[in-house]
Amino acid sequence: MKLAARTTRIKPSPTLAITMKANALRAEGRDVISFGAGEPDFDTPYNVKMAAIEAIEAGFTKYTPVGGTDELKDAIIGKLQLDNNLTYRRSQIAVSCGAKHTLYNLAQALFEEGDEVIVPSPYWVSYPDIILLSGATPVILETKESDGFKIGPGQLDRAITENTRAVVLNSPSNPTGVVYSYAELEALAEVIVKKDILVISDDIYEKIIYDDCRFCNIASVSEEMKKMTVVVNGVSKTYAMTGWRIGYIAGHEDIISAITKIQSQNTSNPTSISQKAAVEALNGSQDIVAMMVREFKDRRDYIVERLNNIPGVNCMNPKGAFYVFPDVSSLYGMSCDGRKISSSTSLAEYLLDEANVAVVPGVAFGNDDHIRLSYAMSMKDIEEGLQRIDDAVTKLTAS
Ligand SMILES: *Cc1c(COP(=O)(O)O)cnc(C)c1O
Repeated sequence: MKLAARTTRIKPSPTLAITMKANALRAEGRDVISFGAGEPDFDTPYNVKMAAIEAIEAGFTKYTPVGGTDELKDAIIGKLQLDNNLTYRRSQIAVSCGAKHTLYNLAQALFEEGDEVIVPSPYWVSYPDIILLSGATPVILETKESDGFKIGPGQLDRAITENTRAVVLNSPSNPTGVVYSYAELEALAEVIVKKDILVISDDIYEKIIYDDCRFCNIASVSEEMKKMTVVVNGVSKTYAMTGWRIGYIAGHEDIISAITKIQSQNTSNPTSISQKAAVEALNGSQDIVAMMVREFKDRRDYIVERLNNIPGVNCMNPKGAFYVFPDVSSLYGMSCDGRKISSSTSLAEYLLDEANVAVVPGVAFGNDDHIRLSYAMSMKDIEEGLQRIDDAVTKLTAS
């Protein structure tokens, strides 16, 4: 079958693939513990579910305006004002079917062949492919653990060419959990304003943040910087609503109307019922979020300490999101029963085959020295899974 060339430029999401492989092995009867999850394990809050049930019973089951209802846009405007001190009008907001869909629409609205978009690595798996689907070229800007996995102003400045249209920032980051401080964003903003490029700020993990860390959006640095920022966020991670598919964007009116036009020719509006649920998530009590974050923090504390006690594993303490991204490269070159570990992929395969534990190879995020483990799972499974990893790694010997 002849398919369009764009289908060969991209690959399926590797994180979804790992989850599916773990599920398939479970269906065969294997007792697999998966650290692959990219979603909270908590249930959607009760008040949110009730809002959806009420929407169904009230017959709120028809098309809505393409870019979302005014009620939801107003809830988003209120959230951005209250949490981020950013002021937007309705014409500057569009709601899509999840933040991934928002990012896809955004890339379609902004980028084309010849454009470059800077993506700091380690990156969320979908950024490069979403950029490729627009015809543009993702330019990967590598960061190292020794730089805190953050890009600096000099590095950004050097990467910008006359073709650069935008840079993607994701703080707290998936997969590293790294959070940019206000001062760091201020330094980046200086380069961005000078070079006149856009920032795509993916704030999906904004609320999942630990210790004394505070979330900042680069748009709040200055009025000028706000004009060059598109804010992408959604309810999936904060309110355990991944299946409801509601994401949103705030930014320049021209971008918003282009996105809405594109959306009018593909999905039309996001699900009417989910929009009602998202209004309740944003406007209702936020207590449940604090409860989830406390639970995530306890798990993070445990998993980081436990991983660092495994010889050959070095794990940085993440400040946000629900992933750890340990450096496992000192295990490369070791082997077990003639099976040699040489990369993040071969380690992930070894752990799945020998220890019944699923992890995501770091190479999927642009860094082959690391693996990603989600801790969006019960403490009991975390303990058992880490014991299995410890045992499997201990079996490895220098060869
Ligand atoms: C999960 C995730 C998204 C997408 O979330 P949606 O469920 O599509 O709203 C976007 N960015 C990052 C970094 C993510 O981890």
